[in-house]
Amino acid sequence: MKYAAPPYMNDVLPYPPSKDGWLHTALWRYVETVFRDTCRRYGYREIRTPILEQTELFKRSIGEETDIVSKEMFTFTDRGNRSLTLKPEGTAPTVRACLEHKLFAEHPVLKLYYVGQNFRYERGQKGRYRQHQQLGVEVFGASDPAIDAEVILLAMEFYRELGVVDQELHINSVGTAASRPAYREALRDYVRPFLAEMSEEGQGRFEANPLRMLDTKDENDLRLLAAAPRLVDFLDDESRTHFETLQAYLTAAGVPYIIDHRLVRGFDYYSKTCFEIIGTKLGSQNALGGGGRYDGLVEECGGPSTPGIGFGLGIERCLLVLDALGITPPLEDERPLAFLVTLGDAAQVRPAAVKLLAELRAAGIAADMDYRSRKFGQQAKRADELGARYLLVLGEGELERGVVGLRNQATKDQTDVPLGEVISQLQHLAV
Ligand code: AMP
Repeated sequence: MKYAAPPYMNDVLPYPPSKDGWLHTALWRYVETVFRDTCRRYGYREIRTPILEQTELFKRSIGEETDIVSKEMFTFTDRGNRSLTLKPEGTAPTVRACLEHKLFAEHPVLKLYYVGQNFRYERGQKGRYRQHQQLGVEVFGASDPAIDAEVILLAMEFYRELGVVDQELHINSVGTAASRPAYREALRDYVRPFLAEMSEEGQGRFEANPLRMLDTKDENDLRLLAAAPRLVDFLDDESRTHFETLQAYLTAAGVPYIIDHRLVRGFDYYSKTCFEIIGTKLGSQNALGGGGRYDGLVEECGGPSTPGIGFGLGIERCLLVLDALGITPPLEDERPLAFLVTLGDAAQVRPAAVKLLAELRAAGIAADMDYRSRKFGQQAKRADELGARYLLVLGEGELERGVVGLRNQATKDQTDVPLGEVISQLQHLAV
């Protein structure tokens, strides 16, 4: 029997695969490290939630009529007859955890980040998987547009740190839940005369979630919607002031932006700001990530009225972007500094080798050996394959003299070093 990973789920490997070289753990770790470091500088703390939640949480927060809930969730019944779902997104679980642990009450402003796996039963393709990893932030308790600006700046800085400098910020405001019905109706009134000409997807959204009609890539729909009423013309005073203040803050921070009237977030709990960051040197898959304000979500999940804003980006898309731009990040050096080669009678030499290796590692030196009792040449070859900078040669002769041969793999120079000095010599050479 042959096994394979589930469809559209990726293995991320310890060595760069020849195809899809971005599926390399060192790259993932690098991106995660840059993200964590950016979050730390902005004062965000990490939250980790279980990979499963009660199904009801997602139905309630994301909405039953959305694609995610209606057809993409991995849902099953556990042995205790509970309906559980592999999390399709990270915001609702974060809200649930903060409510359960009373974090909203104890921390009036809560700035959080997460690195987590999401699961959606989607039609797979390059950049669209059934398991994907999101890097995201959420802020609760602050309705000041300065925090909207902060979240946007954080996302853009993260990408800049990765070397993606050609970015374009798109912003819009979807107003408050109270101000949206009037816009929804105006949009429907505008579309109704040519509804039959719209794509199937557009027609489906007309009834269920008209704002989402704007979020289309269909050329004909775009043409039909070209003169559609604009959200900004329907904002209530509160949303308009919020939007204008955000723009002033972005200008103050020297961040250019484009107001994109078609940029929407479809769920009811979204409000006011939404934004997307676009990579300008990329083709069709040019979205670097996006987010928005969700002032109604905490209440929707059964908590007190609490403003919130966040963004999320998929690490897979991020790595594909780096690949498309030809950016090769500086990766952590996973090579051993020293590789121990043993010679002669194993019964005598091996115990000393095991001891020396343990001492080297305990002293913080990356060291390794070949475990296959092979000839010197084969062991040395293994050292080269792993990229070791130094060979440590230990045979019966060296043991008798209380030394170890230290060979520089670049120059092939070899000297005897007293066993008691190997660690300090290597520490000296490592810098
Ligand atoms: P969303 O949670 O749908 O707003 O998506 C946020 C980000 O997650 C997107 O910008 C993508 O980078 C990433 N993403 C969403 N769905 C997938 C998927 N199926 N496969 C890979 N990345 C995804």
